Amino acid sequence: MQIIVLFGPPGAGKGTQSEFLVEQYGLVHLSTGDIFRSHIKGQTVLGTTAKSYMDQGKLVPDAVTIEMLADAVTQNTGAKGFIFDGFPRTEAQAIALDSLMATLGECVDAMLALEVPEAELKVRLLERGKTSGRPDDADPNVIQKRIDVYNAETAPVQKYYEAQGKFIGIPGVGSIQDITNRLRAAIDSL
Ligand code: ADP
Repeated sequence: MQIIVLFGPPGAGKGTQSEFLVEQYGLVHLSTGDIFRSHIKGQTVLGTTAKSYMDQGKLVPDAVTIEMLADAVTQNTGAKGFIFDGFPRTEAQAIALDSLMATLGECVDAMLALEVPEAELKVRLLERGKTSGRPDDADPNVIQKRIDVYNAETAPVQKYYEAQGKFIGIPGVGSIQDITNRLRAAIDSL
């Protein structure tokens, strides 16, 4: 299996780029944000829990997130590989992902990190908020909170993959096509 962690702050372009990579490499795309949003839409208990954190720009607790991700992986064990988008967002999640992959006899191949300056992220998220219908994109305070949470809790996950020699930084500013090409070059060199 090919297992890629697509990493980066909110608004870095993970969802957009995942679509291209799925098409190109035939991997299963698992976005924890998308899965949470589908639970919110379906008004499940998990959705109600997740929404209370997401609307404030906070992370959903690890235990809840890890269990949900593990279920999603289990439902796709026949996959050629995975692109994880928005997961892991904490070191505990990174450790859980390694254990989960080990149960499949697999391991993460690389973390590809889209690097985008903070000012650009804010512009992109506010712009997306005009059409996304996402409450967490509509409020500048929630956007700032998400960026702060990213810097405090998620950015350190980079070190976890650096220590394993699996971290690859990708400049995330430029045309969508240019960024796709950079990601493809990185994946093809694995
Ligand atoms: P973005 O990367 O633009 O913030 P996502 O759709 O990836 O958007 O995530 C939206 C929200 O969902 C996050 O702010 C957080 O509340 C929750 N979430 C998503 N993935 C995780 C995760 N791995 N751990 C905890 N919370 C998560």
